[in-house]
Amino acid sequence: MPLQKSWVKSANAAGSPFPLNNLPYGVFSICDVTPRCGVAIGEFVLDLTALEASGAIDCKATLQGSSWNAFMALGARAWTTLRTQLTTMLREDAEDPERLKPHLYRLADVQLHMPFVVAEYTDFYASRHHATNVGTMFRGAENALPPNWLHIPIGYNGRASSVVVSGTPVRRPWGQLKAPNVPEPHFAPSARFDIELELGAVVGMASTGPISVAEADAHIFGYVLLNDWSARDIQAWEYQPLGPFQAKATATTISPWIVTAAALEPFRCATPEREVPLLPYLAEPFPTLFDIDLEVLLAPDRKTPTVLTRTNYKEMYYSSAQQLAHHTACGCAMRVGDLLGSGTISGPAPGNRGSLLELSLGGQTPIELDTGEHRSFVEDGDTVTLKGAAQGDGFSIGFGDCKATVLPALDDPYGRG
Ligand code: MN
Repeated sequence: MPLQKSWVKSANAAGSPFPLNNLPYGVFSICDVTPRCGVAIGEFVLDLTALEASGAIDCKATLQGSSWNAFMALGARAWTTLRTQLTTMLREDAEDPERLKPHLYRLADVQLHMPFVVAEYTDFYASRHHATNVGTMFRGAENALPPNWLHIPIGYNGRASSVVVSGTPVRRPWGQLKAPNVPEPHFAPSARFDIELELGAVVGMASTGPISVAEADAHIFGYVLLNDWSARDIQAWEYQPLGPFQAKATATTISPWIVTAAALEPFRCATPEREVPLLPYLAEPFPTLFDIDLEVLLAPDRKTPTVLTRTNYKEMYYSSAQQLAHHTACGCAMRVGDLLGSGTISGPAPGNRGSLLELSLGGQTPIELDTGEHRSFVEDGDTVTLKGAAQGDGFSIGFGDCKATVLPALDDPYGRG
């Protein structure tokens, strides 16, 4: 599919993350006005809350709030109808662009907010390269992949309260730590605070029992970039036997635009060949991954960013649809607004690793930044940015940056002053 041209000229520019083919949904505000629903087009956001109020579109009043949850709950038919309407109204030969122009705001002038209310948050561990790299560091090469890994998309129940939108600063956590060669744990700021490059799937339909991979795929409304901040020293001490807990609860940053599954449809690709056949309930009925280029940049305080990593979502062993099918297999109910983290997305080469833990080999080989500084883990003042885009024929489906700056740990976390 080629670029679909819009009367919003900036949407047709080569390299625009938000051409008419994309139409990602977000929540924005201007000045002190209550945050409202919008769609990104070129260098603008179109105010859909106002458009619905004016009668130009009808989404059963679901766009009158400050999140996309009520609209998602309308179901797939409504998702398709709105996308078709917006495409018709914004394309180059649209009948009445003048009617929409008063509802366009420059992206540079608006503030972006959480695009949806996160009902619950689950994070997975589904890149074979990542699981092998990390497992080797934690348990040795012989036991890198746990015996269940090739059979189950491994996950843990995270905290919806940890999820914040791009731009929100992240404070270095305190926690209980224990170095391997020291007998007793102690309580201190994490010295191994890390990032994880992930894609987050936004569940747009509720379910109350097992759903198939095909159904799960249809239940996913869209995707965001996701940075699963991880305190490796807290994680190493706490993770057995129930998995990560405090190490992952400080913050989870997401990008501000939900890129719809519909926009990503032309970029589907199959999961890699199985080393061990999957049980039938996890089999892929059609390609359920997407070809999305991803990168991670790290900028020390007010300095030029360095690209740490370039990889692609198609490197995953399990897709979000397979993860959602597995998640519901026991009868686990899902809610509109559930967020599923893909797991760290690492590729096969050293330059494709999605966490500093892997890039610096557990801190043993710090990486050199373009500024000449070195990093094993993130330092206070560092700004980490995730970027993502599916590359089409003359256009790209961009995600919008997933960005956050690390603040120093509090001097005294229990201080009452
Ligand atoms: Mn993770």
